Amino acid sequence: MKRKKLLILLSVLCLVLPAANLFAAEVVVYSARNEQLIKPLFDVYTQETGVKITYITDKAGPLLEKIKAEGSNTPADLLITVDAGNLWNAARSGILQPITSSELEMNIPSNFRDTDNRWFGLSVRARTIVYSKERIKPSELSTYEALADPELNGRLCLRTSKKVYNQSLVAMMIAEHGIKKTEDIVKGWVNNLAAKPFSNDTGAMQAILAGQCDAAIVNTYYFGRLLKQDPQLPLKLFWPDQQGSGVHVNVSGAGVTKYAKNRDEAVKLLVWLSSAKAQNLFADSNMEYPVNPAVKPHPDVAAWGDFKKNIINVSEAGELQTEAIKLMDRARYQ
Ligand code: FE
Repeated sequence: MKRKKLLILLSVLCLVLPAANLFAAEVVVYSARNEQLIKPLFDVYTQETGVKITYITDKAGPLLEKIKAEGSNTPADLLITVDAGNLWNAARSGILQPITSSELEMNIPSNFRDTDNRWFGLSVRARTIVYSKERIKPSELSTYEALADPELNGRLCLRTSKKVYNQSLVAMMIAEHGIKKTEDIVKGWVNNLAAKPFSNDTGAMQAILAGQCDAAIVNTYYFGRLLKQDPQLPLKLFWPDQQGSGVHVNVSGAGVTKYAKNRDEAVKLLVWLSSAKAQNLFADSNMEYPVNPAVKPHPDVAAWGDFKKNIINVSEAGELQTEAIKLMDRARYQ
């Protein structure tokens, strides 16, 4: 008798469970941002909406290739990655679809999203100057260009030109200054290098701490991480080009895939990520700036001071990426 009841229960479950799965809303995300960052955010979203989020994480390049290879069979609905250069590449390779949403337009300033609405910035990162408080006076610093001045000879550290962050920075400098002037600036940087370019921003800052150089160009959240480990850190951020066009900023962001099976749910998630509620969760966990201008950065980030941001559309990072790579090669920036 007991056994019969169990069998009935099992067959009922067999009928109900697949149906439940069929109707439960879900979104599949491929993310170049790590699990530590996205999981807490997705947990909140699922709690609020009941929508299940399945995700995988990997580097931007492999994820892009995976979506391309999967073609119309891709399970991915939303691609999350860092740097406008990567987002631009994803859009150009045809794996994203345009999304028209007045909420996204309202939440995200136009210079932080694709002009054809295929990707949207979700957090803002500033690529700025960091310097030794002991060996440089802020009055010695002014612009990205001035890092090429002979006064800084043998005192500059840079991350490798192979990193998309620097390719994007140089691409946006080309958009602003043209090729000739940008090339002169980059050549000046290379001339001033104290050491071979580092594989990451933290390495460049550690070289300043070790006395190898006095200044570097980094994304502010890497500075934030070091500062958390050591509140007495003898390094400081400097905001260049404040009399000119402002600090170079870039984004992390996302786009809905061309063959998304859960398109509408992916759009809803994207809109939520740009909303006031999610913006702090998204930006604060990596010490970045919210893309939504209605949202204030975390107090620890705000403590680094207000600054004027360059308003060049970040898609220039993609448009001029090839030019930037060629230019850095000519300038012998490794
Ligand atoms: Fe980074």
